[in-house]
Amino acid sequence: MWLRFTSFVVLLVAGAAIGWWLRGWPAACAGMLLAGLAWWTVDLVRALRVLRGLRDGDPQNLPRMGGLWGEFADRLRRLQRIGERRQQDSERRLQEFLEAIQASSNGVILLDAEGRINWCNPTAAAHFGIDTERDHEQLIGNLVRDPAFTAYYANPDPTRNAIVTGRGDSAGRPVRLAVRLHFYGEGRRLMLSNDVTALEQAEAMRRDFVANVSHEIRTPLTVLTGFVETLQSLPLDETERARYLELMAQQASRMQTLVSDLLTLSRIEGSPPPGRGEWTALDQLSAECEDEVQALSALLTAGQSAPHALEFAPPPALALAGSRTELMSALSNLVSNAVRYTPGGGSVKVAWQTLPAGQLEFSVEDTGPGVAPEHLPRLTERFYRVDRSRSRETGGTGLGLAIVKHVVQRHGAELRIQSVLGKGSRFAIVFPASRVRASTPLSAPV
Ligand code: ADP
Repeated sequence: MWLRFTSFVVLLVAGAAIGWWLRGWPAACAGMLLAGLAWWTVDLVRALRVLRGLRDGDPQNLPRMGGLWGEFADRLRRLQRIGERRQQDSERRLQEFLEAIQASSNGVILLDAEGRINWCNPTAAAHFGIDTERDHEQLIGNLVRDPAFTAYYANPDPTRNAIVTGRGDSAGRPVRLAVRLHFYGEGRRLMLSNDVTALEQAEAMRRDFVANVSHEIRTPLTVLTGFVETLQSLPLDETERARYLELMAQQASRMQTLVSDLLTLSRIEGSPPPGRGEWTALDQLSAECEDEVQALSALLTAGQSAPHALEFAPPPALALAGSRTELMSALSNLVSNAVRYTPGGGSVKVAWQTLPAGQLEFSVEDTGPGVAPEHLPRLTERFYRVDRSRSRETGGTGLGLAIVKHVVQRHGAELRIQSVLGKGSRFAIVFPASRVRASTPLSAPV
């Protein structure tokens, strides 16, 4: 500013001096006026150049010059650069934010005030079958036609979810989504979706499980209460009393077995996966299993003309890593099932075999009634029984194979079931090679 003022004054003085030198005092005034006019004209031209540059809209194209107008142009250029940098920063942040939402496992849809889709992430597109290009600006109400969604959309409540059917839902493979709408901006809505199929299935399983357990316990309890009332109200002779007490003991034992199986199942589910530190020799597992099953077979075939033909092949000199109690539970469940479902006179063969890849197979083969193919995939479900009455008669709880499945999974093994209706069944557990090693006297637990 000082430079500007000084240059103006210097020019005026120079104009006046030249005028005075040429023609005396009147010419000095004219010289000063002319010098002032010249200064303002030059200044005006420079200002006009800057203004013309501004009219182009890009301060980077402003002319480079000195003086006040040059400084003004420089500052404008600097301001523009700062503005651009800020814009790039916020664009980058927006991009990162969008990328994070894109990667989210939850569905996110941005709706405008009319309910048109402005933006959605790939998860939401998959949830509702939205084509991000084709369905851009489409009304969400036209794309998601589930009545539960329509009702929620008409009366949205950001504090609760609507459970709607997702894309690709079918009878065999349900897809359930939890949807929630939040308001933001001027009437805009943020729609969040979350796949809750597994959660819903777990909840349904829990309900079924509680219903099944209640049913399983209620039946023997009803029978027991009936017998107690009979004993209380009727004058019974000694033989009848003994018979009733025997039946009551059976029902009590049935409840006890059920509770014990439930506890086993919950213990298995609640404990950490068995490590590879505990090794049990196969001959120990086999001997324990054989003892249990011999006793069970004798009990079941008592009074029958023919007992079971039980065949326990001697196990190889190997040891198995895992929880000893769980392994025993799984093996004895398979062998006792074979004995329980095979009528007297039938045969049950138990064998251990090393497979070519180093895995170890434990198999139980029986000549029992077999299982029809349609039941096979469901055998390991809790309380699933093919022959309900035979299961109950022989003290079954419907939880045996569910326990086996859990133990097998926890040991990284595989349960293989083959069965031919009317001919017999073969249940086998294949343990991975990593859980098998040669049995040495030291490796066997005391
Ligand atoms: P349960 O206590 O009723 O035996 P499980 O879970 O052990 O329950 O078995 C489920 C069902 O599978 C049984 O009810 C039975 O119908 C069938 N099953 C299991 N093992 C055999 C087998 N060896 N032979 C024929 N059916 C079997």
